[in-house]
Amino acid sequence: MQIDLKNLTFEEITALAKQLGLEPFRARQIYQWIFQKHVREMDQLTNISKGARQRLKSIACISRLLPQRIDISGDGSKKFLFMTKDGYGIETVLMQEQNHQTLCISTQIGCPVRCRFCFTGRRGLIRNLSTSEIVNQVSAVLQEENITSKLPNLVFMGMGEPLANYTNTVKSIRILQCPWGLDFSHRKITVSTAGLIPQMKRLGQELPVNLAISLNAPNDRIRNYLMPINKKFPVRELIKAARQFPLPSRKRITFEYILIKNVNDAPEHARALGKLLSNIPCKINLIPFNEHAATAMQKPDEKAVLEFQAVLHSRHFTAPIRRSKGSDIAAACGQLGKNI
Ligand code: SF4
Repeated sequence: MQIDLKNLTFEEITALAKQLGLEPFRARQIYQWIFQKHVREMDQLTNISKGARQRLKSIACISRLLPQRIDISGDGSKKFLFMTKDGYGIETVLMQEQNHQTLCISTQIGCPVRCRFCFTGRRGLIRNLSTSEIVNQVSAVLQEENITSKLPNLVFMGMGEPLANYTNTVKSIRILQCPWGLDFSHRKITVSTAGLIPQMKRLGQELPVNLAISLNAPNDRIRNYLMPINKKFPVRELIKAARQFPLPSRKRITFEYILIKNVNDAPEHARALGKLLSNIPCKINLIPFNEHAATAMQKPDEKAVLEFQAVLHSRHFTAPIRRSKGSDIAAACGQLGKNI
């Protein structure tokens, strides 16, 4: 089986180049060709000798993902559908913000965490995405949208729980951050988790990266109901791990809180949340629930959303209301996975 160069970190490409008898600087050239110039064939690596290309070609290939469909939302968001070789759909969403773009990428087909409010998790996990399938979502969107400067923010918040596919997620971040490749700053990358505490701790030790915790409840009773994973990693332990997470300087942890009508959207929940997160440098993103076919849960009333926010503001929290992007094309938070 051929080695997919898009699965390799810079250090691994350097080792491969050495194995093939190439000078060390060739690794840098290969990385530039595949990630900056988006070449698809070994023969396009024109500053590498023909013999070396032949040797490379005999053992390695350059994978890519091609969008099968692009849905465009009324708010300008775009949902890209890519097909894997074994016939599964990967969904990736590019959102237009005021001054920048945010690209939401997937790490799994389906999701093992099975949050009660989430469409993606309804069928459980089908399989992990490979490192190259994660990296190729970014490469493909940059190429399709002709983005060469001002890279988007990257959020690992699409289909799947990134930390349940830990090895491939971390490896893909290392590849995306490599200065000879796409050169994403660690400040631009946010990994979201439902709260896999051991992997959170490991991530904090291994990579400087922003962390978002999908919290959605101020106590174990509600969180057990919404997110079964809470039975394994309860709220208090999760918050303790969040306090200890080493962030890039001047960054705060983000807590995601999906507001669901009559479940977790009352002022008393906001007060309990404020108490739970007191003294943590954080931002709380309030996300009114996006309704979908897999659940009878409902979006909250506007009045409840504003009251919830007011309680948090009165306790000096930063708590923006995140109006979902792309809900008209099933691209909003918790809606991905129709095309699996
Ligand atoms: S919300 Fe995230 S972690 Fe929960 S089931 Fe959906 S994709 Fe998985």
